[in-house]
Amino acid sequence: MPKQRNQKNRNNKKNVNIKPGKNFSRILGTKDVTVKDFDNWEIVKNNITDFLHRYGFKQIETPILEKAELFKSSFRNNDPKEFYSFISDKKEKVVLRPELTQGILRAYQEYNLEEEMPHPVRLFSVGPVFRQEKLQNGRYRQFNQVNAEVIGEDKPVSEVLLMVTAYNMFKDLGLNVEVQINSLGDKDCQKEYKNKLTAFYKERGKRSKLCNSCKKLLEKDPLALLDCKEKECMEIRKDAPQIADFLSEDSREHFSKVVEYLDELDIRYNFDPYLVRGLSYYNDTVFEIWPLDEKENAQFRYSLGGGGRYDNLVEKLGNKATPAVGMAIGLERALTKIKEQGLILFPKPYNLIFIAQISEQAKIKSLQIFEELRKEGYNVRHSFATNSLKTQLEEAKELDARLSLIIGKKELNDDTILLRDMDSGVQEIIPQKKIKSDINKKLK
Ligand code: AMP
Repeated sequence: MPKQRNQKNRNNKKNVNIKPGKNFSRILGTKDVTVKDFDNWEIVKNNITDFLHRYGFKQIETPILEKAELFKSSFRNNDPKEFYSFISDKKEKVVLRPELTQGILRAYQEYNLEEEMPHPVRLFSVGPVFRQEKLQNGRYRQFNQVNAEVIGEDKPVSEVLLMVTAYNMFKDLGLNVEVQINSLGDKDCQKEYKNKLTAFYKERGKRSKLCNSCKKLLEKDPLALLDCKEKECMEIRKDAPQIADFLSEDSREHFSKVVEYLDELDIRYNFDPYLVRGLSYYNDTVFEIWPLDEKENAQFRYSLGGGGRYDNLVEKLGNKATPAVGMAIGLERALTKIKEQGLILFPKPYNLIFIAQISEQAKIKSLQIFEELRKEGYNVRHSFATNSLKTQLEEAKELDARLSLIIGKKELNDDTILLRDMDSGVQEIIPQKKIKSDINKKLK
């Protein structure tokens, strides 16, 4: 999280000569993927998208800007303050999408994907989302999600598919996770449960102890109170009625199937009666993916992903009633966790050949050789930045190169090149025309 600068002092300075890079900093709640992190960032993203492809999901990309209307029924407390919005030149209220699901569902309808794709329709999307949330560690205002949806299937197997995909995907990245699950029941049982919950919190002595936010939410959305992390509210919650006692026959059966499948698939899960999720459109199964913190002093305690069933949302968005499930995974949080656990993801490049040069002319020749080898499919790297051989060989070592080709003035005149085995350090002078055959021999 960037340090907050002293805004008052800054504004007081008159005629300040603004030097970019010195006075500008990131907007609070945003994050750079720096050069140091970029490889891991890409690996995490590619690993997750690769997993989804293998599990039969097709990728789709939708715009960051959408009509505000689309998100009307998204957030628990439906607080428009959370949205970054503006009025467009067409006098439409536009938002920077706060999540990906609605854009995917809009596209599903707009391109008639129900007819175009095999059933159930499995889609995923990756990209930034924007929420004007309270600033906290691990909570950003612009962050990236991978979002997967299964549309058109009411059977429990579709939410299990999402949980299994996420669970195995994190395991594959080296993270031990657990799935937290709960059922919010169908519309009718949710209604009855909400009434009971409101009555419970209104009982004498309870309401006054609630935090201000819970007091405000009690009438509008009592389920949200179960999600509150304030100490007093959590204490009161211990005696609250539980949704499990209000589930209809169908909802109970649906949820027990989910649990049965998770057992069969050997997925580590935990039943959490307080899990309600921050989005208000869920029914029946909801879940979150949590890291299992072996390290006692782990500073990071946040869900890595979450989702659930939303059988009414497609219809609310103007389509015909269609059952669906979805989940979102936070890329920043996945990367933070991977870094925290010291997991190194960057794969060693295979049979890498590093090309070094020791003069301006040699640089041009080395570029020619680089391009010839690259076109032939060799895994080549070049250092354009420096003429220092020492620095270049250090870079080759860092990249774990198998061989280095070194060219200086002498080699340029002789039409030769130095071939260095990076493990043994042995170097030999070879004719430039034999580069490929000699490399092939070495790489065998
Ligand atoms: P949600 O869309 O709120 O269901 O969140 C799904 C996942 O997105 C979470 O489990 C996090 O990994 C990630 N996420 C949600 N909110 C934030 C945030 N403000 N900053 C960073 N990651 C977030």
